[in-house]
Amino acid sequence: MLKINDSRKFAPRIGAHKSIAISLDLAVDRALESTCECLQIFTRPPRRWEAGESSLTSEIRNNFLKKCEKANFYDTAIHMPYLPNLASPDDTLYQKSIQVLSEEIEKSFLLKAPFVITHLGSPKERNEDFASERVAKALDIALSDLKSPTMVLLENSTARRKNWGTKFSHIEKILSKVTNSAHIGVCFDTAHAFSAGYDIRTTEGLHAVIDTINDSLGKEKLKLIHLNDSKGKFGSGVDHHEHIGQGNIGIDCFRELMQNPRFKRIPMIIETPKEDDQSDINNIQLLKTLRSS
Ligand SMILES: [Zn+2]
Ligand SMILES: [Zn+2]
Repeated sequence: MLKINDSRKFAPRIGAHKSIAISLDLAVDRALESTCECLQIFTRPPRRWEAGESSLTSEIRNNFLKKCEKANFYDTAIHMPYLPNLASPDDTLYQKSIQVLSEEIEKSFLLKAPFVITHLGSPKERNEDFASERVAKALDIALSDLKSPTMVLLENSTARRKNWGTKFSHIEKILSKVTNSAHIGVCFDTAHAFSAGYDIRTTEGLHAVIDTINDSLGKEKLKLIHLNDSKGKFGSGVDHHEHIGQGNIGIDCFRELMQNPRFKRIPMIIETPKEDDQSDINNIQLLKTLRSS
């Protein structure tokens, strides 16, 4: 049994994206070594189409589940690899992308991971309406024979690639077109939002963005936050993550995310630079200090 009440003593829970190298269950060990309270993984090599060596044998799966139970990780997020493009106008690429999303949803069921995170992709030369139709249809297909309570979380992106995916209005458009919207949520990435022109350097600015998400998408849609400071300047469109408090967003935003009760039920994952084994530990310790002060 998961000890949910115990883990809620500290809120919000703070975790990191961890490698599944050698065996997927080792991600849990790596997370614990970095003092994580929750976890995000790729289940396959993020820049290749093939599923790779990390195929899910029942032994690996059982080890992963046992370790998660012991660690009290009950809100693991699976991040989609980077090559799929759910807004692609190219039919072959589009079908392959839906296939990968379906596979990751299936794995989330096997791994008892409630979230699959995806970027919105790029419609290339096509417009916003085309993109939102395309992504909504992909989500409907991938969620059509859902066996689990998995939610697919749409992550806001930076301002490159014709600006699609950068605004929460884009996610709103997808939600309005998708049939199974109960299984769609939002992953808010602080660095992506900042470089796309959402000014979250102040607590007022941060709350204004969260209000926008809640008002336009629904109060329960924000399910996970990626905590990243930004090397890219405000509105620059540069997706370059930085250690917490050392980038252009600054510490105030992260202090507010750690301390304001409105965020306490939302798992938070760092995707900050990993120079060495200590990097994640340092960022997580800083966040824990903010949380308890
Ligand atoms: Zn992402
Ligand atoms: Zn992210």
